[in-house]
Amino acid sequence: MMRKYFIDIYKTIWSILIGMRITFGHLFVPAVTIQYPDVKPKLPERARNRLYVNMDDCIGCLQCEMACPVNCIEIETVKSLPTDDLGTTSTGQKKKLWVTKFDIDIAKCCFCDLCVYPCPTECIKMTDVYEFSEFDRNNLLYNFVTLTKQEVETVKAKAAEFEKEQAAKKAAAAAQAKAAPVVAPAQQSPPAQPS
Ligand code: SF4
Ligand code: SF4
Repeated sequence: MMRKYFIDIYKTIWSILIGMRITFGHLFVPAVTIQYPDVKPKLPERARNRLYVNMDDCIGCLQCEMACPVNCIEIETVKSLPTDDLGTTSTGQKKKLWVTKFDIDIAKCCFCDLCVYPCPTECIKMTDVYEFSEFDRNNLLYNFVTLTKQEVETVKAKAAEFEKEQAAKKAAAAAQAKAAPVVAPAQQSPPAQPS
């Protein structure tokens, strides 16, 4: 009886020591955990996180929108007028379209990165921002357009006016061409008969 009592004490102490061996071992190796969120983890080089669009370089080509498998990118463009100067991108491409809408519904985004590769000016990219949760889902609809609502309206109105003018000019030219007299081909005189 007494013997069993001491064996139990021995087993208890031994199992505690076995458990503590692992704990003591970790006291003398560098920690693998970090004090998140005070300390941020180092992300892999190609990590996919929140998207960003540099509108200064966007030419409105729609390639990113077409590549998106879940249709979470919506872009609208308006043709610039011959008198407009939209400048060039940092890659040297001349901008010809006003981008009047550029929305990304990041709540739908599956972070596939497919929109990033086709961009000819490399202006849509993944950032290292991964903490962007919201209480309101509407806040996950990102609007990247830099024009104000008023400017968008003005751009659209001017483009519509220009198109109307062009259509009127075309119609006038067509009417003029229709009204012009048709010139009959010159009649050939019959060859002279030998006397
Ligand atoms: S990462 Fe994928 S899902 Fe997200 S916007 Fe780009 S193409 Fe669409
Ligand atoms: S692919 Fe690039 S340049 Fe073209 S619309 Fe998208 S972000 Fe703009």
